Amino acid sequence: APQPGSASSSPHQPTVIICIGMAGSGKTTFMQRLNSHIHTVKAPGYVVNLDPAVAQLPFGANIDIRDTVNYKEVMKQYNLGPNGGILTALNLFTTKFDQVLNLIDKRAPTLDYILLDTPGQIEIFTWSASGTIITDTLAATYPTVVAYIVDTPRSTSPATFMSNMLYAVSILYKTKLPFVLVFNKTDVVDHAFAVEWMTDFEAFQAALEDDESYMGGLVGSMCLVLEEFYKGIRVAGVSAMTGHGVDDFFEKIAEARTEYETEY
Ligand code: GDP
Ligand code: MG
Repeated sequence: APQPGSASSSPHQPTVIICIGMAGSGKTTFMQRLNSHIHTVKAPGYVVNLDPAVAQLPFGANIDIRDTVNYKEVMKQYNLGPNGGILTALNLFTTKFDQVLNLIDKRAPTLDYILLDTPGQIEIFTWSASGTIITDTLAATYPTVVAYIVDTPRSTSPATFMSNMLYAVSILYKTKLPFVLVFNKTDVVDHAFAVEWMTDFEAFQAALEDDESYMGGLVGSMCLVLEEFYKGIRVAGVSAMTGHGVDDFFEKIAEARTEYETEY
């Protein structure tokens, strides 16, 4: 067996899964599901909560931002609103991220997964220096995959679907990490319509052109961008609530990890 610290990468290097998605898409519920799944299959994991504003965490976190910073105190101290408080709390936490990394590094040889939950409001993580630092730091050391969680029942109109996909594109291009698009809440609405729109472009374009909330001229070129995006990513339909599709999700994560290992 390779020696620890030998040049070849350790066979026990865990996969980092960063859960990102719009507020209410189900990131935290999905994290709970992933956590219980890895316990069931006896795959050791390390769980990090980066949402300072979550009232109740439905999973046990090894590292919880709330243990380090109280965002309500931060709001008072810096005279900020809730979003400013959450962002500043994340910034304060990130100044100590080297300590978090040390803890992770110590445990890493025994871990299969490192799971990260991010703040409810997507842009606090995706458009902040802190989110970038945390993502890039982890991705520099460990095979790292973004799980982009989509609220499937809220994405059934072509316009909202396209908005959500364009947001996903922007994150893919910003992080440059392997991507798994997770259609959540399939217990409410099956994600077959989404798969159809992603594979049959004419069907999607026709649906979009019928939707008067979008400007006709933009539609064609956006479709081209999305077509390119879909080619490079993996899709899983899940229900964080029932657990349906989680096995398939982990298969997609394994594929995405292989992509990381060949491209990074
Ligand atoms: P977050 O803001 O992305 O962390 O979303 P949460 O995990 O807090 O979930 C937002 C809401 O969606 C909650 O009411 C959850 O119970 C609900 N939810 C999450 N996943 C599912 C799911 O798979 N099915 C259904 N029906 N509801 C879900
Ligand atoms: Mg949450």
